[in-house]
Amino acid sequence: MSWHVLGAGSLGSLWAARLARAGLPVRLILRNPQRLAQYRKAGGLSLIEHGQPARYAIPAELPDAPGAIQRLLVACKAYDAEAAIAQVAARCAPRCEILLLQNGLGSQQAIAARWPQARCIFVSSTEGAYREDDFRVVFAGRGQNWLGDPNDAVPPAWLAELDQAGIAQNWSDDILARLWRKLALNCAINPLTVLHDCRNGELRQHRPQVAALCAELGELLAASGQAAAAQGLESETWRVIEATAANYSSMHQDVRLGRRTEIHYLLGHACATADALGLRLPRLRALHAQLRAHLRRHGLPED
Ligand code: NAP
Repeated sequence: MSWHVLGAGSLGSLWAARLARAGLPVRLILRNPQRLAQYRKAGGLSLIEHGQPARYAIPAELPDAPGAIQRLLVACKAYDAEAAIAQVAARCAPRCEILLLQNGLGSQQAIAARWPQARCIFVSSTEGAYREDDFRVVFAGRGQNWLGDPNDAVPPAWLAELDQAGIAQNWSDDILARLWRKLALNCAINPLTVLHDCRNGELRQHRPQVAALCAELGELLAASGQAAAAQGLESETWRVIEATAANYSSMHQDVRLGRRTEIHYLLGHACATADALGLRLPRLRALHAQLRAHLRRHGLPED
């Protein structure tokens, strides 16, 4: 059974290249004829590991190509994922499996609700990759991929294919808890690095602000039925800040490069959940308002 990879950006290329080199059947789905022509001109996908590039001539096609899709890996940004799936939905077999690599929360639930006949598997990845150029991706940080299905705890048999491809994977019985925890860490760190225009480590100078945010995020997690994900949130936030002290956060990099952020699925999702639960959380809301104003001033979408 073929893996269809929707979106040949950083993570999509990282997954596709590793699946292809393990001899597994993979097809890329690119957004339009122009991107397909650029891909063909590049002669395939290049993955750079430890400074060494290797090229994989993975077949690529357009969303309306013929052929049923049984297993779809969605590697678009959270704000593009639903519209991208809609372009291929007519090709999806009944009980098609859709793996969702998006950061944050909200896009996965919207997709699962719109295509209830599919099995949606949510993925939380701590791997790191970036695009050096079109169809040229650097594997920047090894990590783990947690996969899970909030509606069905039975792991799919094809997890063995990920092992075969050297893609670090773990099946999670509570993928929502993992995604919430990651979202909370992101909300405690990334927006402040944008507003203070600093590296992660410089948040040491803003300890009370980080602590107050962690307290409100813990309250939100507990009220959302994610009490376990609230445990030790502040100490883990400091562990992440120390471990990544020299780095600029992904949101900081997006803003610096004039790229749309995934704020709607991170801080935006936290605030929308607080609204639905009737929680005040004044610091989180103030942070959201400041970040949106900052994005507006930089000519970037506020959501
Ligand atoms: P990315 O490099 O921007 O790649 C996204 C890709 O989606 C682009 O190649 C884009 O095509 C493609 N795309 C968008 N709409 C499409 C459509 N309708 N049809 C086909 N392709 C479409 O993003 P990324 O960094 O891989 O991130 C993907 C998700 O993974 C995000 O939610 C991110 O937060 C999460 N994540 C990323 C990392 C990482 O290290 N990169 C780590 C953990 C989680 P074009 O090239 O034509 O624009």
